[in-house]
Amino acid sequence: MRAIVQTGPEVVEVQERERPDPGEGEVLVEVHSAGLCGSDAHAFLYHGDYEWTTLPRVVGHEYAGRVAALGAGVDRFEVGQPVVEEPVHECGHCLQCENGQGNVCQNVYIAGMHGDGGWADYTVVPAEHLHPIPEGVSLREAAVAEPASVAARAVFEQSRLSPGDSLLVEGPGPIGVLSAALADAMGADVVVSGLERDRAYRLPLVEEQGIDTVTVGDGALATAVEERTESGFDVVVDATGHHTGPGTAIEHVRRGGQVVIVGIPGQLSELSLAPAVRGEVDIQTSYGSLWADFERALRLMATGEVDVGALQDDSFSVEDPEAAFRAFLDSETLKPVFSLGED
Ligand SMILES: [Zn+2]
Ligand SMILES: [Zn+2]
Repeated sequence: MRAIVQTGPEVVEVQERERPDPGEGEVLVEVHSAGLCGSDAHAFLYHGDYEWTTLPRVVGHEYAGRVAALGAGVDRFEVGQPVVEEPVHECGHCLQCENGQGNVCQNVYIAGMHGDGGWADYTVVPAEHLHPIPEGVSLREAAVAEPASVAARAVFEQSRLSPGDSLLVEGPGPIGVLSAALADAMGADVVVSGLERDRAYRLPLVEEQGIDTVTVGDGALATAVEERTESGFDVVVDATGHHTGPGTAIEHVRRGGQVVIVGIPGQLSELSLAPAVRGEVDIQTSYGSLWADFERALRLMATGEVDVGALQDDSFSVEDPEAAFRAFLDSETLKPVFSLGED
């Protein structure tokens, strides 16, 4: 079978691999569509916080496919059934898992990071990490279920956003755009901010979804606050992953509002928390997702509340995975999706 393998920093290649066999409790999945995630791009560069990823390894954790074979003892699935993996495997027995906080499990295993992932014709998964795909969601769309679940957690669980609230989403990457789409679907007044380079692809894509955008610089955010809000945004979601993101959020949220940090900003240099404390701004983080967030994302896709298909870019070929990484890192695309299987 074909597999896209990262063999070193900034080196990915298509290799011929033996098709794996499902062991006890496992399912063999024939992959149909597989997406590129921001974390895959960081792992590709192999820098900073991603040097723990194993090499060589089959890349990818955002994918959907059909059950091809069942290992011993698996009775929850049928051959041919459409499924999507929840790629962050919680251990099930640490303090956090015992308390329903598996998204911050102490012994977490991420498919495609700690070991082989789903950018291959076939992959093997423990059955308990598979979700059945509901009717109305295509295999291609389901490949975005994982980032959609991360956005669903940030917007519906960790933020206190309500319909009618004003929301600034900083950062038009996949999580930012999906968060904006979900918040828009719930009836919030959403604006997404990006950089000049995002004007080429990502911000126009957001505007096509009927969501307003603003390009950061020359006081554009202050103008947006003035034009759209009474005294600042009710909620700001920082999905930039940049060290200036939280500071910009605190600057543009209203007193008594909330900042939700879902990007991973690294070391913050000159952040003053004084305005946040004096304004009693609620600073909240959001990390990964739980089973229920995943199910909620799939349902919102099934009912058509969010059109994730419109955000996907299938112009990249499995034969040249590096092109997708380069385009993503240059903000020339939002969510590359490789097509591996046939419809
Ligand atoms: Zn992801
Ligand atoms: Zn755990």
